[in-house]
Amino acid sequence: MADDRPRKLQRPACRRCVHAAGIEGFVNCWTTHDRNVCLRHQLWIGQGCPQPDDQVDISILPSTSRAHRHHRNLISRLGRRWVSNAFPDARNIFLSWITGHSADPFGDQATARSRLVGEAGRPADSQTADGILFHPQIVSLTGLLASPIWEAKTVQSGDISWLVREITYRDILVGYVPEARTDPLIEWAEQRFSTRRFIAHRGWRLYEAFCPEETVLPLPAPGTKPALRQHRVSPFLSHSVY
Ligand SMILES: [Zn+2]
Repeated sequence: MADDRPRKLQRPACRRCVHAAGIEGFVNCWTTHDRNVCLRHQLWIGQGCPQPDDQVDISILPSTSRAHRHHRNLISRLGRRWVSNAFPDARNIFLSWITGHSADPFGDQATARSRLVGEAGRPADSQTADGILFHPQIVSLTGLLASPIWEAKTVQSGDISWLVREITYRDILVGYVPEARTDPLIEWAEQRFSTRRFIAHRGWRLYEAFCPEETVLPLPAPGTKPALRQHRVSPFLSHSVY
């Protein structure tokens, strides 16, 4: 992946944790992309909450809290760098899929959205509400995109049919069939293929120029093994030195 995202973000701390600590006012803290939920207080503290009062009570959504744990497990299994790169892409792809196309004949999603409110009872904006409501699917898609398996299957078969089938098998978007090349997942996968051709043609030094830190492997501490999962080889980046 040629576009490593910022590894740390600044966001307000959970307002209920701050209050419980006896602190008055606003506390901003450095955090990582996966800290979207305060499990203790069942509060969404992630994307879409620039102010503490924007943090949304998610006690009605236990699946979102479970997805938060799933997200942390993915980082342990696949490596933080791969998961943090895949998460915003997965979020954009999934929200793009459901925008204007989500079947909600009984109004369940609309009801859930209206109950996702901040401190003053103000509903979260629609993008934030959907990001919270569909956090389980977004995290599952993150695991799929961050995994080396889809890359290996795609290189083996020459197409992304395995990746498309897994979207349904993993209950991310049941019955998903891309209808056009403008489908966000198709565009995402094609971008990986074009990156591969580009790198193969122009040589690995261009990649070094884009991501200089990735060309230098950190030395393992004496007596320890290097963290191999952070440095796996991607078939879409010839000569890369992960
Ligand atoms: Zn809290």
